[in-house]
Amino acid sequence: MTEGAAGGRGRSTVRPANDDVPMVRAKKPEKSSKSGVKSKAAGNRATFEKRTIALVYDFDGTLSPRPMQEYAFLPQIGVDAAEFWKETNRVAREQEADPLITYMHLLYKKAKDAGVRIDRDDLVAQGRSVELFAGVLEWFDAIGEYVSLRAESQGVTVRHYMISSGLTEIIEGTPIYGRFHNVFASEYWFEAYDMPYPKRVITDTGKTQYLFRINKGVEDLGQTINQHMPEAERPIPFSNMIYFGDGDTDVPSMAVMRKNGGHAIAVHPPGKSKDKCLDLFKAGRIDFFAAADYRRGSDLFKRTCLLIDRMLADIRVQEETWKIARGLK
Ligand SMILES: [Mg+2]
Repeated sequence: MTEGAAGGRGRSTVRPANDDVPMVRAKKPEKSSKSGVKSKAAGNRATFEKRTIALVYDFDGTLSPRPMQEYAFLPQIGVDAAEFWKETNRVAREQEADPLITYMHLLYKKAKDAGVRIDRDDLVAQGRSVELFAGVLEWFDAIGEYVSLRAESQGVTVRHYMISSGLTEIIEGTPIYGRFHNVFASEYWFEAYDMPYPKRVITDTGKTQYLFRINKGVEDLGQTINQHMPEAERPIPFSNMIYFGDGDTDVPSMAVMRKNGGHAIAVHPPGKSKDKCLDLFKAGRIDFFAAADYRRGSDLFKRTCLLIDRMLADIRVQEETWKIARGLK
């Protein structure tokens, strides 16, 4: 959420970009590893296992042009989006409150004031109104096809993850929800009091926790992420990961990626200012930036594929090294 609410430099007018501020809820975990890692097996594996590539996305401003609450929630309760984020930021500043918790509270306080009841199902339904950047719907298949075409190492797979400060329920209603291996986003309790109450809030720095969960294979939020895990046992090395974001709220995630050998790409709205991306690029936060055009053949597609090519080569090198080392035992 709130790119604005997250309180970075110069974002005075900010609108909470939902996604930049995190809170998380686990999507229904797919098949594999909720808890990840087969720890002890690392030394005895019969095959090289680190062949999963993870593409991790912020939502607001990255996959969708505007904060997700602006498409249906705010119009439904008759609240102007710019005014809402402005008030969120003001209240958070005055109260020294977390901007994300503040926005989640204000959202339902205003709905209550307006006499509009919005439950979990309503939020999911709102997801259908969320706009996605060009090509997002086709992106997942296109990337999958590219990897299949280029992977010379057997068994390389691609997973997509979302880490968003926005609302899990709205994300569930978008047509791309099923494309993600896991979605970590903010979420409400709906039975807590007379108003829904934040169950999970993901701040911009909090987002980094989920990068480590993906890295360590500990995606069950009921499990702690803080236990030590040697690099060799982590199923998805940072070098196999790319983080996609659009602004200041993504800086902690981008920094974690880059400092751990991973990759980051920033996007800007097509045809609009790329100043933020330039700042991130000059500061060494990202490998590349491009307009948020996800269609095959776009700069974003080509630059993503370039990083994937490097990851595929790295996986082959690591696999060869692993085989040699294994033969020495
Ligand atoms: Mg964003």
